[in-house]
Amino acid sequence: MSTSASAPVTPAAILSAPKVLLHDHLDGGLRPATVIDLAEAAGYRDLPTTDADDLGAWFRESADSGSLVRYLETFAHTCGVMQDEDALVRVAAECAEDLAADGVVYAEVRYAPELFTERGMSLDAIVEAVQAGFRAGERRAAEAGRTIRIGTLLCAMRQNARSLEIAELAVRHRDAGVVGFDIAGPEAGFPPTRNLDAFEYLRQQNAHFTIHAGEAFGLPSIWEALQHCGAERLGHGVRIVDDIKVAGDGTVHLGRLASYVRDRRIPLEMCPTSNLQTGAAASIAEHPIGLLTRLRFRVTVNTDNRLMSGCTVSSELAALVEAFGYGWEDLRWFTINAMKSAFIGFEERLAIIEDVIKPGYARLISP
Ligand SMILES: [Zn+2]
Repeated sequence: MSTSASAPVTPAAILSAPKVLLHDHLDGGLRPATVIDLAEAAGYRDLPTTDADDLGAWFRESADSGSLVRYLETFAHTCGVMQDEDALVRVAAECAEDLAADGVVYAEVRYAPELFTERGMSLDAIVEAVQAGFRAGERRAAEAGRTIRIGTLLCAMRQNARSLEIAELAVRHRDAGVVGFDIAGPEAGFPPTRNLDAFEYLRQQNAHFTIHAGEAFGLPSIWEALQHCGAERLGHGVRIVDDIKVAGDGTVHLGRLASYVRDRRIPLEMCPTSNLQTGAAASIAEHPIGLLTRLRFRVTVNTDNRLMSGCTVSSELAALVEAFGYGWEDLRWFTINAMKSAFIGFEERLAIIEDVIKPGYARLISP
């Protein structure tokens, strides 16, 4: 909790604090005006409106609607305009700039290359374009006085059968900044164990991966991701609370899986606002992130899809401050948790923690 000498934990002060983001989808973070520009350039005619403000509102309302069809339609539009090199470079560069403007100092941004092949781009060309875009965005952020580093995660889609191919793609580009792998898409009916050959390959290559698990679907999905597949982190992982019992007198009992997750310090890539939109929690105040933070799981705070959720890392942290009364020490804890859990090397993680995060929060805690 903050002391009386600390800077007040206002949205503006949170914006100025160094932040780390581990779970953000490239195709869920476009600027509405860019979607419109790219649609025009590519002859894409399916957008619901060509007014940027209206389009931004449409994305948020569609994601809020509770309708899976409308939710998927939002990604049909963003992916629909990301089918050539220029578009991918621009979207990635703007992603890096937008995150830097939000005070993010390190981010891992993910996408599924197989969604961008409609106009004939090869998987390798797609990865090269996105990497070029991130580097351009990092340079532009630096020119604006902000230092950010972006690592890339490549996703395979659960419902397709290309996970080994995408895992090989990730390893092929790891020296160019692809730091890990993920599987995304519908959990129900597509257990992560369908992709065991990809995970086995990644482990043999000493490569890193996280798995979207325990978002809407329950404990079996988390258990499989950890104990069959060997995931180092959990995308969301929010249903781990199903293995935690809180008695009427406040006594807490952790089941074996929840204990394992906490004991092993398995990072949870939590995305509170996104979970409200998919119905995994009714409000931020009721979101399991409060309990999991109190129990000192390795909680990290993320955006998932900034366009669809109308959020930033700063706004997510501000919402948690409002719901749970968190102070600077808590926000620093989330940030260091995330940096410790990143897929870049130990020395690089430590340098950002010691040289950027700790001094940044020290200025806010004892100004
Ligand atoms: Zn996600």
